[in-house]
Amino acid sequence: MNELEKRVQELNQLLTEYGRAYYVLDKPVATDAEYDKLMQELLAIEADNPDLIYPDSPTQRVGGTVLEGFTKVEHDYPMLSLSNVFNEEDIREFDRRVKEAVGEKVSYICELKIDGLAVSLKYENGRFVQGSTRGDGTVGEDITANLKTIRSIPLKLSEAIKIEVRGEAYMPKKSFVRLNEARDEAGDEPFANPRNAAAGSLRQLDPKIAGSRNLAVFLYGIGGDGEAYGQATHSEALDYLDKLDLVTNHERKRCKSIEDVIEYVNSWGAKRSDLDYEIDGIVIKVDSFEDQEQLGYTAKSPRWATAYKFPAEEVVTKLLDIELSVGRTGTVTPTAILDPVRVAGTTVGRASLHNEDLIHEKDVRIGDYVTIRKAGDIIPEVIGPLVDKRTGDEEPFDMPENCPVCDSELVRIEGEVALRCVNPQCPAQLKEALIHFVSRNAMNIEGIGERVVDQLYTAELVKDFSDLYGLTEEQLLQLERMGEKSASNLIAAIAASKENSLEKLLFGFGIRHVGEKAATLLSREFGSLDGLMAAEPEQLLAIHEIGEKVTDAIETYFSNEDVVEVIQKLKDYGVNMDYKGRTQQEIPDEGPFVGKKVVLTGKLSILTRGEAKEKIEALGGEVSGSVSKKTDLVIAGEDAGSKLAKAEELGIDVWDEAKLIDVLEVKE
Ligand code: NAD
Repeated sequence: MNELEKRVQELNQLLTEYGRAYYVLDKPVATDAEYDKLMQELLAIEADNPDLIYPDSPTQRVGGTVLEGFTKVEHDYPMLSLSNVFNEEDIREFDRRVKEAVGEKVSYICELKIDGLAVSLKYENGRFVQGSTRGDGTVGEDITANLKTIRSIPLKLSEAIKIEVRGEAYMPKKSFVRLNEARDEAGDEPFANPRNAAAGSLRQLDPKIAGSRNLAVFLYGIGGDGEAYGQATHSEALDYLDKLDLVTNHERKRCKSIEDVIEYVNSWGAKRSDLDYEIDGIVIKVDSFEDQEQLGYTAKSPRWATAYKFPAEEVVTKLLDIELSVGRTGTVTPTAILDPVRVAGTTVGRASLHNEDLIHEKDVRIGDYVTIRKAGDIIPEVIGPLVDKRTGDEEPFDMPENCPVCDSELVRIEGEVALRCVNPQCPAQLKEALIHFVSRNAMNIEGIGERVVDQLYTAELVKDFSDLYGLTEEQLLQLERMGEKSASNLIAAIAASKENSLEKLLFGFGIRHVGEKAATLLSREFGSLDGLMAAEPEQLLAIHEIGEKVTDAIETYFSNEDVVEVIQKLKDYGVNMDYKGRTQQEIPDEGPFVGKKVVLTGKLSILTRGEAKEKIEALGGEVSGSVSKKTDLVIAGEDAGSKLAKAEELGIDVWDEAKLIDVLEVKE
């Protein structure tokens, strides 16, 4: 094999590897600029040596595959990629090729290249019926349920027609920034850019995730034959999409000459940072459908369009210091303090370094000159140090062993990248922790909301959960806007919460991964807080639905001395630490509900839903919300609707309330 062949193989392999990380896993391992450079190198070699074009070369295929778990959708028309141009000369070369094929009289339309992921939306009789990803261009993933959570996708068009439209689903910059902050906080890895964040949100089996991520869409074309809808040009087709109530991007421009195209492209270089969504270039398309048809397609992209890619702006500055901040859940996040420098439209003085592992991976040291850019042109990011510029005075950074705010020992929870402060008295976390502690599903102390927590904290009246129980009316009356009545109600509500059953207290602690359900399971199993604290990990793991994550989090939490101290104080104040329902040991081994999945529906008149649920669960049943093949029994009250119908359709046992009471009384 000669040198050139070797290089081609190397490039094929690298690009395939990078492509997989980017398209399949939504987690790139290289920058776009690096990827594009290698792709251009391969394209250039292949152009001069057609015998070196392998059928599976990344230049010949649309990147991407279908993730497991998704239904496959075969596209009626392939969903292709776009060729790239990087400078004025490339744009003129594209114009020359177009004119060679269709003659001198050609008009273009320029659109913003939205940095998201391509989606196809199918409408029948004007109703949205199916949405999919591009996948490998021929077969994509069915993501209809996820796309339905995007508000800018209409479920009904203004005309009752059958049409397939294509567009880009994206995550607005603000949502991207917020999502990555939340991921830092949760100890999850941040998304590299809004494109990967949008793709990672839509390529999830659970539509709740997409629904929570505030995605949007711009449609940019009709799938298949635009002329079939009476349009002669792409610009007309876009106007038509607007009329159908489909959202298109209005920054587009028709250009009569390539000079106009170049002017438009240049005008966006600086302006793009003002947009509230991310663009990575400008798409240049031949406007007339007739001309488009004449130009045709390569295996991977249309010959009638190309994408001008903006250069990634990278600048060098000095890393002055690394600062630590403690977030709401105790995550300690390192931030680079930079010599302020202008990059992609704004001055940057700080950049998150995310976690200790990343700092070591990149080997950035305090005093280093570092290259920075904006991830997805939004969030400042330190790429790495300029090792050649080191003087020897640079200092490697290690995370401290103790919390920078409260000095308690930091812990790293198994499987997480973040270091965490788990001290419930840490001022950085206390306010949020208190708000959770008093909330309805936790200790349910009415009358204390965010404002009062804030006041109590500022007045230094409350430093941990237990201090709430030591509050006096006189102290409360010192707080602004606190009247006598409110103060005495509050004291009464605090006192009443002492009687809560253990699961509410346990949930109130805000232990990571311990939600209401886990708190109830654990309380039921161990009966008391002491029982839980004395339990071995194996005992926790033996509980159905309690996994390693929860077990580790619980162990870490209760092994903290400060936690133990707060619990002792709560005990001294007389806060109940026992489970008031039936514990697992008290649940009978047999009976009509043991191991049964039960659904309650309709109006009950003797018991409340909550009471019925409690009683059934005390007898070993599991009450869930929806009827499925796995349901064993449905209790139907008055006016039961679709759940009852479904139960009957599935042949599931159905009882009325009278029968339930009968059985419960026999068993009580
Ligand atoms: P592309 O993203 O460069 O261009 C094609 C896509 O542009 C279309 O599928 C469409 O979804 C989108 N698009 C946005 N606005 C549009 C508009 N107005 N009209 C038409 N299309 C529009 O192509 P691609 O094949 O999806 O990805 C290739 C690019 O992805 C590379 O250039 C590279 O930057 C990046 N990539 C990076 C890595 C990495 O490791 N960092 C790996 C693979 C790919």
